Amino acid sequence: MNTYAYFARRFLQKPKRPFMENESGEIISYADVERETACYANFLMGLGLRRGDRVAVQVEKSPQAVFVYLACLRAGLCYLPLNNAYQQGEIRYFLGDAEPAVAICSPQNQEWFASLCNDAKVANLLTLDQNGHGTFAEAAAASPNEFITAESQPDDLAVIIYTSGTTGRSKGAMVSHRNLTSNAQVLCDAWRITSDDILIHALPIFHIHGLFVALNTILLSGAKLILQRKFEAIAAIEQLPHATMLMGVPTFYTRLLAEQSFTRDACKTMRLFVSGSAPLLLDTFNEFRSRTGHTILERYGMSEAGMICSNPYEGERRGGTVGKPLPGVSLHIAGGETGVIEIKGANVFSGYWRMPEKTQEEFTDDGYFKTGDIGAIDHDGYVSIVGRAKDLIISGGFNVYPKEIELLIDEIPGVAESAIIGLPHPDFGEAVTAVIVRDRDGGMLSEAEVIASIKNQLANFKVPKRVYFVEELPRNTMGKVQKNVLRTQFETADKY
Ligand code: AMP
Repeated sequence: MNTYAYFARRFLQKPKRPFMENESGEIISYADVERETACYANFLMGLGLRRGDRVAVQVEKSPQAVFVYLACLRAGLCYLPLNNAYQQGEIRYFLGDAEPAVAICSPQNQEWFASLCNDAKVANLLTLDQNGHGTFAEAAAASPNEFITAESQPDDLAVIIYTSGTTGRSKGAMVSHRNLTSNAQVLCDAWRITSDDILIHALPIFHIHGLFVALNTILLSGAKLILQRKFEAIAAIEQLPHATMLMGVPTFYTRLLAEQSFTRDACKTMRLFVSGSAPLLLDTFNEFRSRTGHTILERYGMSEAGMICSNPYEGERRGGTVGKPLPGVSLHIAGGETGVIEIKGANVFSGYWRMPEKTQEEFTDDGYFKTGDIGAIDHDGYVSIVGRAKDLIISGGFNVYPKEIELLIDEIPGVAESAIIGLPHPDFGEAVTAVIVRDRDGGMLSEAEVIASIKNQLANFKVPKRVYFVEELPRNTMGKVQKNVLRTQFETADKY
């Protein structure tokens, strides 16, 4: 089943309903979606593209950028979103690796994009700016506004998403139509999304959170979204009284809490706040609940598998956990109580683009995908993420899970947040090292005090050998702490 057809079958029952309100207050209806994506799909196919051809897109967020995504699905082309932060060297790699038939870029990058497209033999380069103008939009506007949606098979490739690749080469996760439709359906059911919902959409659309979780659930339920180009706490607060849902990364929630105008009253029409893509601090979870009366629903997923676990809509949303495996997801922990999370289900991708060996390595013999996240499950079935396998620290031969220590450090008065990393050590192999951001009251907090306050609660090999203080932790656009950056920064800071 083609993903676009799967959504359209429902949303075209009420074509006049609004799909999107953009920042200038303009309303785009579902009938507009059907018409615009037809023009875009006709234009793309008119370039001589064939099913499965890749369309690489690095543009600013706009309604038209959303149409490009949908037009690709509709025409049976493979959509390939690229993070706006990627620079020339990275784009060169993606174009060479994915061999797209079309690239769409922002007008200001056209010159260097053209030279990269030339080298990678990408036949078509078009532009699209944040206001929906550019050579792509102009050409598409002149194309016919009816299009017969391609008949796709469930396993057909719909999207390639490159993983952030903090170690080694970035890999293209191949996402199928089945992956998209099944996950959207599961989420709409789990989170009770209906056509009455209005979502504040402030996430980027080059990443699964803003692209699949947010857009696909809205499209499938025929609901409405308020498009915000990027997250700004004040702008989000202004829209809250017109909305029922917000999906965000944890930094959205800490930034909202930093605003005095973020009150219980501001949230009175809201039904659901979802957090994911990075761990939500327990402090944020608790403070949010006492400030607004709402309990943030934390969920866990990844490019390779869409959404995997979610706290319940009804029932206890447990802070510090990502809830239980979603329906249709079979999950187990490799090797005992704490270990790598392995999963199977209709949500799991089919492999990495042109990396059959890497793909094979990442699946177990019985078909489970090794997520690379280390997790644990409690008696009630709630999963918590302890860290990434590659962030696991082995000190003196013992496994150290960063999260356990971070949670303790975060409890110390004066600490805003912390990251635990492993640094090379002549005796231990790796030395547990803490990097801490002090809060407003933490001005005087010292290394010795931090160590003294946790020493009695942890086995000696887990106690940080050194503690460093920083103004803020380096994060990527999805709010993930970049431990590789910290490791490089502090590697040479001290010889033990
Ligand atoms: P991405 O493919 O960019 O979405 O990154 C996926 C990774 O983000 C996962 O493998 C996890 O390491 C992390 N992640 C996503 N959601 C959560 C969460 N709720 N808590 C902790 N880590 C998360």
